[in-house]
Formats: sequence, C-alpha cells, structure tokens
Amino acid sequence: MSTSTLKYSAETSNALLKEVMDRSGQNLMSCYQCRRCASGCPVGEETGVTPDRLVRMILLGEKEDALNNLLVWKCVACYTCGTRCPNNIHTSRINETLKQMSKEAHAKPLLLKVAAFHSAFMKSISHFGRSNELEFMGLYQMENVKKGGLSALIADIKSLSKLGIAMLRKKRMHFKLDKTKGRSEITALYNRSAKRQGPKE
Ligand code: SF4
Ligand code: SF4
Repeated sequence: MSTSTLKYSAETSNALLKEVMDRSGQNLMSCYQCRRCASGCPVGEETGVTPDRLVRMILLGEKEDALNNLLVWKCVACYTCGTRCPNNIHTSRINETLKQMSKEAHAKPLLLKVAAFHSAFMKSISHFGRSNELEFMGLYQMENVKKGGLSALIADIKSLSKLGIAMLRKKRMHFKLDKTKGRSEITALYNRSAKRQGPKE
C-alpha cells in the first residue's frame, strides 16, 4: 500500500479537480477521507492505491500519479466503494474518466492488456450498442498486437483458448450480431470521445 506523502500543487489542482468532477459526475469536494471505500475495495491492496487515496491525489493536484496508477487500470467496477461512501462518490466512474484522460494524453498504459481490452470493448459497443463476443475478441487481439506485439498475441491465445472452449460449450459465445435500440446515440458518444483522444489512439 502506497504511504508516500502527497504534495499539494496549486498549479494543477483546480483544473484537474474541475475536469474530473465534470467528466465523472462525482462530487470529490464532499470527500472527508473516512476510508469506508478503502475497506471494501477488492483491488486496493494489490494496486497500492485505495479509492480514498485516489480522490486525495486529485484534490491535491497530483496529476501524474492520478493518471498513472494501477487502481485506474485494475478497478473491476464492482461499485463497492460507491455503495459504502456516505457521500455517494463512485470511484469506478472516476477511474473510467482517468483512463480516458490518460488515453487522451497518450500516456503509456501501465497494463497493456487492460488497455487493449478497454479499447476493443468500447469499439465493439460503438458498432452494436452492446458487446458481441466474436467481434470483441477479434478487436481485442488486434489491439493486443498493436500494443504488446506478436508475443502478447500468442501468450494470450494460449491462456484464453480453454476459456473460449468452455464458453462455447455453455453457449455463452454469440455468433449473431444483435444491435440494440439507440445505437446511433452510442456511436455518436463514442465518436465524440475518440475525437478527444486525437489521431494516435
Ligand atoms: S468513502 Fe467516500 S467520503 Fe469516505 S474516503 Fe471514500 S470517497 Fe471519501
Ligand atoms: S469499483 Fe473499483 S475502486 Fe471501487 S471498490 Fe470496486 S474495484 Fe475498488
């Protein structure tokens, strides 16, 4: 668990706080550091950053640390922090915002596979309004090669083949390309976000 002292940066704190609050819809100003969120987070110990600490980083303007820490990439969006928070702060939404901001800044992701998964998932959703397992797997492996090279692809296929077979057996792999209602709105949202990220993503 990270215990290093955080430093206040007047230069970045206001802009960072405003951007994260606006984009995540979370009122970070109401956090009084009670740490109820930290006690329930399943990945806080492993990542070395608990939700309360992430909020503190943002409040103090530690932009680099806020954009580059494992909690942002390993958060499993279980919503435990949000349901425990007396001020209704959902760190999973903050993490999603920081992930997007990190992509927009073209920072090297701390976990290449998670970044590839995230990009493929978002792209697949933009096409059908929901994720289609087959399309998603194809996109994910393409992202994997782009980010981690051919060795990442081979290692991943080896580790995922068993899971794929089990999913097929249990009929959890859908071949039909179903589309949802309101797909054009989802596509428009995705395109807006992609535009913010610029040409390199
Ligand atoms: S539970 Fe809410 S108020 Fe308490 S530290 Fe976590 S984010 Fe802040
Ligand atoms: S949503 Fe993310 S940050 Fe919150 S408790 Fe779950 S894993 Fe931790």
